[in-house]
Amino acid sequence: MNNIFKNAGSYWVKYDNYEWKSDNDGVLFLTPAKDAELKLYNPMENCKEMILDALNVGMSCMNKDTDKEEIKNGILSFVESYGLPGFMTALPTTPDFITYEYVYLPKNHYIKEERLSTQEFLSYFFPFEEIDFVKEKLESSWSVTDASMGALILTLKNVPQAVLMSFQKEYAERLDWLINAFGDLAFTFFSSFLYYQDFDVLDEEQKNLYRKGMAAFGGVAPTYHIELRDTPTIIWEFNSLLLQIQMMLSLMITDTDSAIRVCRNCGKAFISRHANANYCSRECRDEFKNR
Ligand SMILES: [Zn+2]
Repeated sequence: MNNIFKNAGSYWVKYDNYEWKSDNDGVLFLTPAKDAELKLYNPMENCKEMILDALNVGMSCMNKDTDKEEIKNGILSFVESYGLPGFMTALPTTPDFITYEYVYLPKNHYIKEERLSTQEFLSYFFPFEEIDFVKEKLESSWSVTDASMGALILTLKNVPQAVLMSFQKEYAERLDWLINAFGDLAFTFFSSFLYYQDFDVLDEEQKNLYRKGMAAFGGVAPTYHIELRDTPTIIWEFNSLLLQIQMMLSLMITDTDSAIRVCRNCGKAFISRHANANYCSRECRDEFKNR
């Protein structure tokens, strides 16, 4: 894959243990467990595997018949491998929203308001323990009590403050948002996969539906800066795992050399060098033929 994001400022944080927790209104959230340890890692290193994992979780989210517990387990295991998607910095027009008076939101599936106060916006992500956050005009600060969080902040010096806040143990993301996000990824992939696979049998109305579904996919663009290395080099800053997944999935969907396919036997997404491969493994091929 010709990766235009090879110089991505790519990092993310995952904890080794997460738990489901309901707020006072009964909304279910996923949040790091009390005794969980954080780990900094580079999601670009195994990004194809991550995209496949996200698609396979997304397929179970899309399927109305999937058992709710199965969906929760799928999401939990994804988050334990890669961390929370980071809605807090994926949704606003800028990951530096902390330095502004208001948070501005482009159209999205999660928050209807176009503009929120910073406090109001933060409350979506800190439903259990309010974060000790002080904002005076454009200056803001928050107190960090956790030692490993303090070390992390020193390591990630140039990262926007909101991204660091989303790595706090008190940070949480809603189950219904997670289901929606994973489902969207799988839906987008399927729109493009089925459009070409079934092109000859689809009527014009069906084709149009796929095109519209595809056009609705997207998010805020990553930010970037230029560094004077051996040659001037563009450095991309994603600022959320969700944006990284969206961009990499978009690259993979549009990459004609390495196709993501769906196994005819087990229904899982896999990557193949052959554009017409139908099975993820020899076992699946044999099993399908012996049906
Ligand atoms: Zn298979």
